[in-house]
Formats: sequence, structure tokens, C-alpha cells
Amino acid sequence: MSETPENVLVEHVLDAISDQRLRAGTKLGEQALSDLFSCNRAHVRRALATLAAYQVVDLIPNRGAFVSTPSEDEARDVFQARRAIEATIIRNVVRRADEADIERLRAHLATEDEIRQHNDRPKAIRASRAFHMLLARIGRNSVLEHYLAELTMRTSLIIGLYGSKTASLCSDDEHARIVQSIIDRDEARAQDMVDHHLRHIEGEIAFGDEAPRVGPLSMIFPPDRATE
Ligand SMILES: [Zn+2]
Repeated sequence: MSETPENVLVEHVLDAISDQRLRAGTKLGEQALSDLFSCNRAHVRRALATLAAYQVVDLIPNRGAFVSTPSEDEARDVFQARRAIEATIIRNVVRRADEADIERLRAHLATEDEIRQHNDRPKAIRASRAFHMLLARIGRNSVLEHYLAELTMRTSLIIGLYGSKTASLCSDDEHARIVQSIIDRDEARAQDMVDHHLRHIEGEIAFGDEAPRVGPLSMIFPPDRATE
């Protein structure tokens, strides 16, 4: 996404959701968000509309915006849809990736390695999402890219709502192995790897565990964000 004020806000809200600082059902007040991020309410409204379009936020008439609460069934539907869409994306990537794309993938893996060494969970989740979105871009089907943007945002919400058994959901070597199968132009192996990877992530979600309480917005975002 481009770095418009509303997109930056969308990324911050997604980070807070996937890092469990912002819980399902939390009200996202326009004034509170515009104070926290020092941006005007028009930007906040556009960011909330984007999040609502991606089904991460529910806009309730006369009540405001709330973080969505997907059921386990909806969460599993999201993963099934990701497997279907990403199977086609990875096939396109194996067929269409050029040398510059391969370099971009290698650079992304290096960034993920770097983040992993610092144990920064929200950054790791954001980078993992970015890897899947990079594949979608390289696949060069903008319709699939659009749907995957929604599905990866909803995945962040699901991770935040249910929690996970491991710190980073996209395990280190799986992305690297997917990239290797792209370099080898091995379509069948690449598709197998992506399918296995997505089933692995779904298997790590702690469905059935109790979701912790929600807190006030100002407690949720780290103080430094308030001055950005
Ligand atoms: Zn992944």
C-alpha cells in the first residue's frame, strides 16, 4: 500500500490487532484515533472505511467502528480461501517471475531474517503478510492481489483474536523453501509448499482459547505512536 496518512493508520491498526494490543470488539473512536496519530478525522474515517471494506472493522450505524470478531468457522473459511487463491498466485509467480522479482524475494527473505533476530512480533507478522502480498504482486493478477490483501488482513485479525502457539506464524524456512521452488521453476513443488505452509499457519492458531479483555485505546497503542 502507498504511504498515505490513512494507509499508515491502517497498518498501525493491523499491527495492534495482530499483536493483541487491540482486541476484537474494541471500539475505534474517530476522535481518539485522530488524537493518537495526530491526523485529521477525514483520514481516520477513510482508514476505518478501508478496514471495514476488508472486513477487519464493523461500522455500526449510530454506534461507530468496532474491531470485527470472526467466528472459528469464518476464520477457517478465510484459510480455505487463501489456499485456493494462493495456489493460483504461486503458479503465476513460477511462470512469470523475472530476475528482478527473484531479487526482490531474496531481499525480502533477508529482511525477515533480520526481524527474526530482534524478536519483534508485530514487525514479524507484518513482514510475513508482506511476503504473501509480494508473491501476489509478482503473480501479476491485480484481482487476486486485491482479494489476498483482504484475506491477509483478516488473517492478522484472526491471529490477534485467537492467538497462536508460536511467536511468528510464518516459520523461517518455509518462505525460503517457497522462494527456492520459484527459482527452480518447479510449479508442483511451489504449490505443495504454499498449501503446506498455509495449513501449518492455520494449525498454529489457538482456537478455543479464551480471548483476554479489551482495554482503552490509549493503553493499546505505544506512546511513541501518539506523536507520529
Ligand atoms: Zn507465510
